[in-house]
Amino acid sequence: MFVNENIIPNAPGDSGGVRATWAEISLGRLKRNLDAIRQRVGKTRVMIVVKANAYGHGLVEVSKALAGKSDYIGVAVLEEGITLRRNGVKAPILVLGGVWGDQIQRYLQYDLTLTASSVERLEQIDKVAGELKTRAKVHLKIDTGMERIGIHYYNAHKLQEAAVGCRNVETEGIYSHFADADARDAGNARVQLERFNEVTRFYERRGLPVPMRHIANSAAILQLPESHMDMVRPGIMLYGVYPSPEVPRTVDVRPALEWKSRVVYFKVVRPGHPVSYGGTWQAEHETRVVTLPVGYGDGYFRRSSGRAAVIIREKKYPQVGTICMDQMMINLGRGSAWNGDEAILLGESGGERITAEDLAEWAGTIPYEILTNINTRVPRVYV
Ligand SMILES: *Cc1c(COP(=O)(O)O)cnc(C)c1O
Repeated sequence: MFVNENIIPNAPGDSGGVRATWAEISLGRLKRNLDAIRQRVGKTRVMIVVKANAYGHGLVEVSKALAGKSDYIGVAVLEEGITLRRNGVKAPILVLGGVWGDQIQRYLQYDLTLTASSVERLEQIDKVAGELKTRAKVHLKIDTGMERIGIHYYNAHKLQEAAVGCRNVETEGIYSHFADADARDAGNARVQLERFNEVTRFYERRGLPVPMRHIANSAAILQLPESHMDMVRPGIMLYGVYPSPEVPRTVDVRPALEWKSRVVYFKVVRPGHPVSYGGTWQAEHETRVVTLPVGYGDGYFRRSSGRAAVIIREKKYPQVGTICMDQMMINLGRGSAWNGDEAILLGESGGERITAEDLAEWAGTIPYEILTNINTRVPRVYV
């Protein structure tokens, strides 16, 4: 077990060096999830998507743990790629987001693969690589229906032609992204896939080698095997969470992160004495209330106030009153707890379980945002 000391605000040595609120991440579970994905996709390459601090699980730690088992690493922004290189990660890294002109040098300096979304940008990359007497590795980004970044599929040949003409650019890959592969009806995703297939036929028609083709996110890995192509790009599934309740669960993955805190205060609250800011809740009968040192300042959504629950001593109890920045209150009713007892915000204990889906429902969002919202004030502990 090790702890990411960089992000722990406590002085080293204090209370074991770990705050009373922390996230526990199972690297073994992440590896088993990746193995399960590999089984599903056979010989197809796997890019692990570790953007946004590896969906809250820790960018560097997750990448190091999985680099040897994967073929490519996907990040969203240049800085994430540089952080990985500075921490000794040698695997190929594709930056999935757009490129700014004056960032190109840095991509090349750190051997990061660029996403080229327009002819103009591609030519800029070619020019900078030429000036630095190096070759840039790029993946061409085709917009087949997301309307985000990427050249429209109906103009893609212009980007492909331009890439063929570049002297300092290696077109290693070509990719696209699904807008709604997580819907029960995969009809739109099939339309996007057909557009993408048509775009990549350019190479066969020209008798050119076909770059690595990839389009499948977690949802497409689960329900659209014909989209696996040369590489798949699992994100959320790697972390053991399904992209939506609508996709068939054709791969067995389990959550790798548990979010925990501890009881730090116990009190008995009388009726007529409202709890927390704004006095939004009060007890009808005398009740036992405990305080946990975690709040929206850690990324626990304030808008789940009064709907959330936690597990203490294998029982689920409701959160009451407004969630504060750094603390929140739990109504034990007639239940019991001691100061120092573990409280599970996300995870399981005994027969009880709280999932990222539960937290998402209470906060009116999706599991992706629950995980990426757990911020750096919460130390990560690796087991
Ligand atoms: C985030 C992202 C993924 C991973 O998506 P999941 O739904 O988490 O599997 C794949 N490809 C691109 C381009 C992304 O931005």
